[in-house]
Amino acid sequence: MAAEVLVVEDESDIRNLIVLHLAREGFRCRTAKSGPEALREARTAPPDLVVLDLMLPDLDGLEVCRRLRSDTTTATIPIIMLTAKADEVDRVVGLEMGADDYVVKPFSPKELIARIRAVLRRARPAADPRVLRAGPITVDPMRHQVHVGGTAVALTPKEFDLLQALVEAAGRVLSREHLLERVWGYTRGGEIESRTVDVHVRRLRAKLGDAGRRITTLKGVGYRFEDD
Ligand code: CA
Repeated sequence: MAAEVLVVEDESDIRNLIVLHLAREGFRCRTAKSGPEALREARTAPPDLVVLDLMLPDLDGLEVCRRLRSDTTTATIPIIMLTAKADEVDRVVGLEMGADDYVVKPFSPKELIARIRAVLRRARPAADPRVLRAGPITVDPMRHQVHVGGTAVALTPKEFDLLQALVEAAGRVLSREHLLERVWGYTRGGEIESRTVDVHVRRLRAKLGDAGRRITTLKGVGYRFEDD
């Protein structure tokens, strides 16, 4: 079934624009114009994801986010924050607030939808709960755990997603662009974004020890996980 998104935004132009584009992409939508309405909607029937504007008149987005996270009914619903200023980003994605991602206004609907898809994919490990095995590495999407030769390896969420993508596609080359879209939700990758992938791959390799050598670089193309 199509994922349901609760769009929380007091400005009707922006709200309608988001709903229009989400509906066109096959999402089901509900809307809320205020913080209290958003909390009511989310508690009554938890949506698959909340797009939450930071600037709301009565109860701001951060407070709505905090309350959603502290209520067991809504605690695990993924949240994407809309922020007007890039310098708010640190607060928004800070651990205490717990938004899953953010989009800075003005944004393109295409970018927002790419972020929504990426967050939903991460939030739905149950869709593919199989533990992946490749050589000495096991990746458990349900528990978000990685073991190498039976020893647990602590990865950041991005490193985990990156490894999962590579292991799932074992034997096939994944381009940087593909990895950027899948792990970071970017639709267009520039020079800086491509380097982000390289940096994360380097850290991931280091954490995996000898098994890290299974991630091979195909210069100018991307990365491949070498299966047995
Ligand atoms: Ca607003």
